[in-house]
Amino acid sequence: MIRIALLGATGSIGRSTLEVVRRHGDRFRIVGVSAHRSVDALAGIVDEMEPEVAVVADPSALNGAAATGRAGATEWRSGPEAVAELARRGDVDVVVNALVGAAGLDATLAALEAGHRLALANKESLVAGGPLVRRVLARGSGTLVPVDSEHSAILQCMEGAPRDSVARVVLTASGGPFRGWTSDRLAHVGPDAALKHPTWDMGAKISIDSATLANKSLEVIEAHVLYGLDYDRIGAVVHPQSIVHSFVEFVDGSVLAQVGDPTMELPILYALTYPERRPDPVLRGFDPVAASPLTFEEIDHDAFPLFGLGVDAGRRGGVAPAAFNAGNEIAVAAFLERRVSFPGMARVVDAALEAVGAAEPASVDEVREADREARRAARAEVERLKERTA
Ligand code: MG
Repeated sequence: MIRIALLGATGSIGRSTLEVVRRHGDRFRIVGVSAHRSVDALAGIVDEMEPEVAVVADPSALNGAAATGRAGATEWRSGPEAVAELARRGDVDVVVNALVGAAGLDATLAALEAGHRLALANKESLVAGGPLVRRVLARGSGTLVPVDSEHSAILQCMEGAPRDSVARVVLTASGGPFRGWTSDRLAHVGPDAALKHPTWDMGAKISIDSATLANKSLEVIEAHVLYGLDYDRIGAVVHPQSIVHSFVEFVDGSVLAQVGDPTMELPILYALTYPERRPDPVLRGFDPVAASPLTFEEIDHDAFPLFGLGVDAGRRGGVAPAAFNAGNEIAVAAFLERRVSFPGMARVVDAALEAVGAAEPASVDEVREADREARRAARAEVERLKERTA
C-alpha cells in the first residue's frame, strides 16, 4: 500500500486525487487530509476515507462542531503547523501538496526534509521557494514529482534520457478564455468571463492565472527549478486544444511530446505510482482523429503582459519570482472582487516587483519577508488604481 497525505483535499486537485484513490483502493490509502477552511467538505472526506488525521489550516474555521461526535478514530487538528506536521509524518509515503498559494512552501519543505515523495501541485512552492527547494533536493532528501500537466509531460518525455541530451522544452498553454483578444477588448472583461476556462475545470485562482497567462510564466519558472534549464531553453506556445501537454527537444533535433485528453487525473496517478505505470479503468488513450486538428500559436505579449513579467522575474532570480507570485495573488484577489481591471492586474504585479529586489534568499523567513513586502506594494497599487478610476 502507498500511504498518502493529501493536503488541500477539498480543492480541485484534491478532489481529482480522491477520484484516483477511489479507483485504486487496493494500492492507495489516505492517512491524512487537510483543508483550508472547508470543514464540512473535509468531514465528508474523513467519513469516507477514515484517515488517521484531518487538519483544518485556518483555526477559526474549526469551531469544534464539525470534528466532535464523529465516528472513527480520526484525530482533528488545526493550524498551519499541523499541516506541515502532516507533511512530515513518518507513516506517509507520498505527500500530495495541492495547497493554494505561497502557504504551500512550508509543507513542500517539510515533506522533502522528511525524505518523502512529494507529488507537487502547489506551483508557488517552486516559484516563491525555488532556491530553498533546490537546496533540499541537492542534499538528496526526498523526491519531487510534479502534478502539473505540463511538468508531468516533461518528466515523462525526459524519463531515461541523460540530462545533457535535452536541448530545450516547450510548454503548451491553452490560451485561456481570451485567446485572440486584443488588449483594448480586454480592458472591460470581468471575473465571470475570466473564470470560464475552455478546456480545464479548475479553481478560481488558477483559472484567472490561465486567462492572464500568469499561470504559464509560473510554469516556466517551475520548469527552471525542476529541470535546471536556463530560461533561454524554456519556451511556451499557445495550443488551444490542450492535447499536447508539452514538448521536449533533444540535442539531436528529436522532439518528444506527451499527449492525451486534458484531465488532471493522469498526472496525479503518474505522480502517485512514479516511475511505474498502472492500468486505470477510466483514463483512456489518445484518439488522433477525434482530437484533430491540433494547432499552435505565438503568445500575444501585448494582450497578456503578465506572461513576460513573470518570465523576467524568473530571469532576475532570487526573491523576484516570490514577489511576482505574491503580487499576482493580490492582483487576482482584487480582480475577483472587481477592485482592479483585467489590464490593471499587470500594473499591480509590476508595483510588487518594483518594491522587491532579486536578492538570493537564505531562509524561508527571507522569502516570507519578500512576499510580505510585495503584497504591501501590490495592495497600495490596488488602492492607487481604484482612486484613479473612481
Ligand atoms: Mg499547468
